[in-house]
Amino acid sequence: MQLQTEALHAGYEKDTQGTMAVPIYQTTAYEFRDVEHAADLFALKELGNIYTRLNNPTTDVFEKRMAALEGGEAALATSSGMAAIFYAIANAAEAGDNIVCASQLYGGTLTLSAHTLKRFGIEARFFNVHKPEEAEKLIDEKTKVLFFETLTNPSIDVADIDALTAIADRCGILTIVDNTVATPVLCRPLEHGVDVVVHSASKYTTGQGLAIGGIMVERKGLVEKIRANPRYRHFNEPDESYHGLVYVDVPLPIYTLRARLSLLRDLGAVVSPFNSWLFIQGLETLPLRMKEHSRNALLLAEFLEAHPAVSKVNYPGLKSDKNYSDAQRYFDGGQSSGLLSFEVESFEKAKAVVDATELFSLVVNIGDSKSIITHPASTTHQQLSSEELKACGVPAGLIRLSVGLESAADLIDDLKQALEA
Ligand code: PLP
Repeated sequence: MQLQTEALHAGYEKDTQGTMAVPIYQTTAYEFRDVEHAADLFALKELGNIYTRLNNPTTDVFEKRMAALEGGEAALATSSGMAAIFYAIANAAEAGDNIVCASQLYGGTLTLSAHTLKRFGIEARFFNVHKPEEAEKLIDEKTKVLFFETLTNPSIDVADIDALTAIADRCGILTIVDNTVATPVLCRPLEHGVDVVVHSASKYTTGQGLAIGGIMVERKGLVEKIRANPRYRHFNEPDESYHGLVYVDVPLPIYTLRARLSLLRDLGAVVSPFNSWLFIQGLETLPLRMKEHSRNALLLAEFLEAHPAVSKVNYPGLKSDKNYSDAQRYFDGGQSSGLLSFEVESFEKAKAVVDATELFSLVVNIGDSKSIITHPASTTHQQLSSEELKACGVPAGLIRLSVGLESAADLIDDLKQALEA
């Protein structure tokens, strides 16, 4: 089935009421038929609902739909994108291990890997996403994960997915990829050999800035990479916390299963059924929205590139952008999503432009239908000196846009008056 059809139907079989909309199963728990039924569910002899921290019928539709869109086998939804990233990594790595990450990462993922994971005994090593060979040099026998974003936020770089998965496969390590900004509509990392995809569902998935959530999707056949692989001993040896279950022996998608039975069970960052329902509504229109976000962003990027007050535009859909060829290679039709950034001459000018816009909202979010503008040097990157800003690719005059679904003509008029004010 085509992605546009799956976005509307995958994962939902109408219940006895025949409801067209997926029902919201707003419940904490589920009644068992009898004690044997309860015991069978706990022993995984039968699959079914136990308690909403572990599973929920509305969330199940969201998980199945996202798995279908990514071309994966199974998915696990979480209460936020950060929880999905943490679970995806913690499912593979433990104290004493390391992970190898692209340095062009979302800020939250950067602090998670560089600081919080360190407190759990997991070391993060960083490579430049444009230099996959650096990643290979950082991998050793304790490396459990190669992590990168397909389309990076906020630096707006495109990863060479094939080069990175080839390295990970050669070394027998798992690739975990954040596909939040590209979405499965533009890019399907699992088709390029990625093992696990994660998303912040809070962005394009909901599409209207309505809810925080995350999801992790596992590729088909992942068990074969993990089976008898000495790096992933906890999938190959009995899990004492689950009456000696050996994950590789279970005929189910094991990466998702272990994350659910161990991490979601014990850490509990579960998504609410209502938020899953909102994400399902969002997914219905995702294919249409991503085309329009990409079309609008390209029009704005072209306008900005031609404007005398703008010294540089970063947008992978522009021929002049260093990511153009990778965007053409990995993104459907070269469509490059709604994120772009541009530079004006100074910190003061950037502040003035941001303040002068009227249609753009000054918000630290992306992926909303409404356009968003941010000035990293005075907000998210405020503590850094101008040298440090330059080093991490965030010059003082950089402005980031998350281009929404308004008329491109109106957005361009607004930027024009703000630049020329
Ligand atoms: N990944 C990317 C690329 C993001 O942009 C964000 C948030 O902005 C996250 C992950 C974290 O997601 P959440 O805010 O849902 O925890």
